[in-house]
Amino acid sequence: MSKRDYYEVLGVGKSASADEVKRAYRKLARQFHPDVNKDDPSAAEKFKEVSEAYEVLSDQDKRSRYDQFGHADPTAGFNGGGGAGFQDFGGGFGDIFDMFFGGGGGGRARGPQRGSDLQYNLQIEFSEAAFGVEKEIEIPRSEECQTCHGSGSKPGHSPETCSVCRGTGTQESVVNTPLGRMVNRRTCSACGGDGKRITQPCEKCSGAGRIKTRKKIEVNIPPGVDTGNRIRVSGGGEAGDRGAPPGDLYIVIHVKEDKFFHRDGDDLFCEVPISFVQAALGDEIHVRTLDETVSLRIPEGTQTGTVFRLRGKGMPRLQSSSRGDQHVRIQIVTPRTLTDEQKELLRKLGRELGIEAHEQQRSFFEKVKDGVKDALNWD
Ligand SMILES: [Zn+2]
Ligand SMILES: [Zn+2]
Repeated sequence: MSKRDYYEVLGVGKSASADEVKRAYRKLARQFHPDVNKDDPSAAEKFKEVSEAYEVLSDQDKRSRYDQFGHADPTAGFNGGGGAGFQDFGGGFGDIFDMFFGGGGGGRARGPQRGSDLQYNLQIEFSEAAFGVEKEIEIPRSEECQTCHGSGSKPGHSPETCSVCRGTGTQESVVNTPLGRMVNRRTCSACGGDGKRITQPCEKCSGAGRIKTRKKIEVNIPPGVDTGNRIRVSGGGEAGDRGAPPGDLYIVIHVKEDKFFHRDGDDLFCEVPISFVQAALGDEIHVRTLDETVSLRIPEGTQTGTVFRLRGKGMPRLQSSSRGDQHVRIQIVTPRTLTDEQKELLRKLGRELGIEAHEQQRSFFEKVKDGVKDALNWD
């Protein structure tokens, strides 16, 4: 069954104005409306035909596509089910279209897609984070095919307009529901939304326009980076669809822990053990910093847990010439093994300070514990 020409259905000329089309439709719709034409079995069919013609000819986009392609244009193809739902539409279908698709405009082609972004996790040493480093990394990614320059077609050939969607990249179908006519637009399955199809695929990339490769990239890691920092390499991601720009590459930094330094932002923290003698009398000690060993004066009577700050000895700040601080926490170490002579000296010191070591008052339990320790040769 061949379809009648829409102009013929409405009985208007090819150059009919929008008003003329509307008037013709109203007249015919009244005439064939199933409600008023209960006796005529062909009325519903005719009403459907009229409505379909009006839907196309009243929409500027659809009308011009129809003028160009006729019924062959699948985006204008209406093969909705039975006519039961037609009563719901007194005055055309404009509202429904406006509601779902913002009015006007036919199906929009998706267009070539930009390439995907890639993420690469890069682990670096603590010192590399402190001083910066140049790294060569290898990224498995797709690149534009050099043979076809991304077009996907054999050199000398070019893609043809997709015959299924006529280059629009979308396919459209109309379904009648109790709520009204629903238009379903989806990406053209034949061309994937490009609107074009490759008929002579490039032999190198089989028409994809891209080839898988492992790309070596030099990355400059600036001093001061921290775990979680991302370095963006613009255009370093996957190649785009034919002609579209590539995605970006994000290098996510993971900095290995250091045994001595603990980091909090730009500041460094470390613990330095000193003896109680140094703490009591004061001393000058050597402390490792990122760049060198510096001397630090410990004043008389320093308590355990005291923190000294080495200004500007911390981590470099990103994109700045300044640095954080290094915080040195003093830990006073109690001697574990003392000779009898040293013990006697300490007792003497204790008496001098008015402190009696209450060794003899230790509980029976404590003594037993010590005895067990000795027996097991614990430290
Ligand atoms: Zn190619
Ligand atoms: Zn298509």
